[in-house]
Amino acid sequence: MKLPSVRLYNTFTRRKEELRPLQPGVVRIYSCGPTVYRYAHVGNLRTFMLPDLLRRSLDYLGYRTEQVMNITDVGHLTDDTFDRGEDKMLVAARLEKKSPEEIAAAYTAAFLDDVRLLNIRPADHYPRATAYIAEMIALVGRLLEMGHAYVVGGNVYYDITSFPAYGRLSRNTVEKLVAGYRGEPDPRKRHPGDFTLWKAAGEHRTQVWDSPWGPGFPGWHIECSAMSMSILGDRFDIHTGGADNVFPHHEAEIAQSEAIAGHRVVSLWMHGGLLMLSGTRMAKSAGNFFRVTELEEQGFDPLAFRYLALQAKYRSPLNFSTEGLAGADRAVRQLRERVAAWSGGDGSVDAAFDERFRAALADDLDLPAAMAMVAELARSDLAPGVKAATLQAWDTVLGLDLKRGAMERDLPPGAADLITQREKARAAKDFATADALRERLKKMGVRVADAPLKD
Ligand code: AMP
Ligand code: ZN
Repeated sequence: MKLPSVRLYNTFTRRKEELRPLQPGVVRIYSCGPTVYRYAHVGNLRTFMLPDLLRRSLDYLGYRTEQVMNITDVGHLTDDTFDRGEDKMLVAARLEKKSPEEIAAAYTAAFLDDVRLLNIRPADHYPRATAYIAEMIALVGRLLEMGHAYVVGGNVYYDITSFPAYGRLSRNTVEKLVAGYRGEPDPRKRHPGDFTLWKAAGEHRTQVWDSPWGPGFPGWHIECSAMSMSILGDRFDIHTGGADNVFPHHEAEIAQSEAIAGHRVVSLWMHGGLLMLSGTRMAKSAGNFFRVTELEEQGFDPLAFRYLALQAKYRSPLNFSTEGLAGADRAVRQLRERVAAWSGGDGSVDAAFDERFRAALADDLDLPAAMAMVAELARSDLAPGVKAATLQAWDTVLGLDLKRGAMERDLPPGAADLITQREKARAAKDFATADALRERLKKMGVRVADAPLKD
């Protein structure tokens, strides 16, 4: 079967390119994941929704996907642009009087709950950085042997002048990096833009590993080179992250991975636009953020945030406001009610509408255009059954739980909610929870039959 052509914007070349998976039909994706020292905010979650929308779209178009999302549980410094400050995990551990492992476990669990609330399909692999220290040490050793790095007092730095393509992704030059440098330069670095591969432990007694350069911990950037290449190999199709990851994180990852591999590792770099709050970037450190659970406590459907995000182009910044969210909340509830009203009769997917929907997905995930089609279809004079069938098919991409309204109408009170929870548990391969929910549904007189899970 010939798969449709998909065009995606590549940050590396600054243009839309045709997706050509290395293995025909299978798209392998690495996504930068959360640093688990605090709760994720909806800005972080917008970034994690990008690969979800990518995978759901590719799936709809007939491709298969495999996704790795790392969990950063060590090494992310409080000031990464200039590679200074303390490790965020250690700061959190000190403030909360817990071990870094306890902090990581608690916030990883919270992250996975948030992912479920937003109907983000879980990644196939969630590697933790602390499980890949040996691989990171091996990469740092190779970079030293190859002359891309140097050791000063137990720290290992990457020498950015040794990699001529440094700056290519972010369109930075070494001169611009020097000019942009603020504060005291680190006298141990040959160049202020050099970044840390391995950091000497100093006074830290926790999260320290032995290495050929003495006890310490890895830099943030080397984590993603180690995890991506260990799991996906030294060539894979797509790398995703937020726009703020372009520099320095992904620039550094390219310098590390490509110096070692000797060739391009990532075919396509995709970056999601930032979520803003009153004109500034929503940020954990600045404290101007919302968690998805907070929105839920305020009475919003968590998927209203998903609806809001779908209305903007994924690459554009998106301003978050309570009014905007309230509008999305009304819209998603109304759409569910309409699908409920239209369903029940016969009807199949409208081919002409569906063709346009697919074309929008294939055009760099044009979800705002897809959402406009949802409205157009709803207004059209197609038969109600056709509208319901088409919207339910599209919802495998949109992820708005559009059939919930019909389930709520046709089932005993509370059952639709349990079914939704059970579907999410199954998608996350949490079969114990899924079985427990099946039992509860059975007691309500509702029997569930499962289709086999895809992938
Ligand atoms: P962190 O947990 O701090 O490592 O951040 C996780 C991801 O969230 C990173 O890939 C960032 O690019 C992304 N991110 C951080 N702030 C925002 C924001 N305001 N809007 C969208 N994405 C963001
Ligand atoms: Zn990363």
